[in-house]
Amino acid sequence: MHRTHTCGELRKEHAGEEVTLSGWVHVIREHGSKQFVDLRDRYGVTQVVLEEKADIRRETVVKVTGKVVEKPKANEKLATGEIEVQASSCKILGPADPIPMEPEAENTEETRLKYRYLDLRRPDMQAKLQFRDDCASSVRKHMHAHGFTEVETPILMKSTPEGARDYIVPSRLHKGKFYALPQSPQIYKQILMVAGMDKYFQIVKCFRDEDLRADRQPEFTQVDVEMSFVEQDDVIALGDELLKNVVKDVLGKDVKTPFPRLSYAEAMDKYGIDKPDARFELFLHTLTELVKDSEFKVFSEAPCVRCLVAPALSRKQIDKYTELAKTYKAKGLAYLQVTKDGVDSPIKKFLSDEVVDKIVKETGAKPDSTILFVADKEKVANDALAHIRNALGKQFELYDPEELNFLWVLDFPLFEWNEDTKDWTPMHHMFTMPHEEHLQYLESDPGKVLAQAHDIVLNGTEIGGGSIRVHHKDVQERVMKAMNISEEDAKKKFGFMLEAFQYGAPPHGGFALGFDRMVALFQGETDIREYIAFPKNKAAQSLMDDAPSDVEQEQLDELHLTVKK
Ligand code: ASP
Repeated sequence: MHRTHTCGELRKEHAGEEVTLSGWVHVIREHGSKQFVDLRDRYGVTQVVLEEKADIRRETVVKVTGKVVEKPKANEKLATGEIEVQASSCKILGPADPIPMEPEAENTEETRLKYRYLDLRRPDMQAKLQFRDDCASSVRKHMHAHGFTEVETPILMKSTPEGARDYIVPSRLHKGKFYALPQSPQIYKQILMVAGMDKYFQIVKCFRDEDLRADRQPEFTQVDVEMSFVEQDDVIALGDELLKNVVKDVLGKDVKTPFPRLSYAEAMDKYGIDKPDARFELFLHTLTELVKDSEFKVFSEAPCVRCLVAPALSRKQIDKYTELAKTYKAKGLAYLQVTKDGVDSPIKKFLSDEVVDKIVKETGAKPDSTILFVADKEKVANDALAHIRNALGKQFELYDPEELNFLWVLDFPLFEWNEDTKDWTPMHHMFTMPHEEHLQYLESDPGKVLAQAHDIVLNGTEIGGGSIRVHHKDVQERVMKAMNISEEDAKKKFGFMLEAFQYGAPPHGGFALGFDRMVALFQGETDIREYIAFPKNKAAQSLMDDAPSDVEQEQLDELHLTVKK
């Protein structure tokens, strides 16, 4: 037998018992002829006294048998601190070389990922994986309680672009043909609705070959949901219910539902972004008209002038925010200092007193504040100010870090204009249903069409999204046409789906939650790699097993592939 108890289990009630513990040597202290060992496993640490020295070092795996003895003075730092085990035997189960990294030290990301098994020995990493599992079981519990069935969908599928780049897998049996890894199970879940499954969900891996960030990995997990015979309100209500229950289960917190709903237009107007952090009010203002006739050309000639009122900022802080604005393509940041003695600014000389008064009035700026302006294309002004707003929120602690602020953003445009490809591209994906009353503009004015789409936002991060879907072949074809997908291409890529719609497709809709992101945010973290057992680094490599790596020539031959020199 390897153990009678775990290393976190023994208390003074066990004194006198003969026990066996197995675990890792966490710390060794030498005391004369004795060794004091802190023995660690996932459940805790127990102090073990070895009368005879053993040939062990940090991280050796040992099995000790001995008697539990109550300590005269408890070690309050340990849950097992009331006792120690006086070992009569110590057997080495897994010898250890000197470890290449100290798990508890500040290690570089590279080291942590290379020796992930050492990194994961840290109790806080194990707690994070446990928390992730708690979230997953809670999701499953609530989805099952609502009558949803978890259905697995294929990992090897047809390459059907959904917005990002596909990972593709060459076929051995079919020369020159490829599978793709799913960017999401979108098409399958819709076909499951055509198949009559009614309520589907899946906690599922998705793959996107995109540039990585702290909250993006090439493979990530979604809570994917689809339901039939629903309208948007039903889908959103299910999302509210699910998130509320999961938060209660895993954090013990009550969040109020229904979550607020905001239209895309409203979000852009108030916050300049479609994933607003609504934990604090500090709204953007539009001054384009107001400054149109001013002598300040930067303002009068700009297509859009927007601003926000920040707490009073120093010159140095303004410089910092100017740099931030520039990363979002703004040419600069104009400002007005509002003090109790009036308004001051290098641009004041270009603005009449009347205009300055109007700006202060329009923005409601009070003394001891700084008005920050971006004059540019609307998109640039919004991007820059929205990110400045988020940074201000953080710097001035404008919100309670414990708050979980969920909200839905609705009524997205169906398409956005892509300057590079000169095409209309879907803001979500091409299976999103337009508002019925906007179907008429699909051909004449695609930019005007709003979609029955919904994004769910938590504390300024988009944690999921979905929509009511197109379920008519002809509407789907019209959407594809608006995107400039030829009939032939549509048939080749999506023919099977269009065909499925011909044999009785129910109205349906759903959403997917970015599970890694959601789990991390629940614990106030943004780096999803902390919640993934074996993540890739920023260059999409797995440093532990060295993937991606070369393969044998034979393998390439079998797959009918040649690597370009
Ligand atoms: N498949 C979509 C995504 O991955 C979510 C959805 O529309 O349900 O973003």
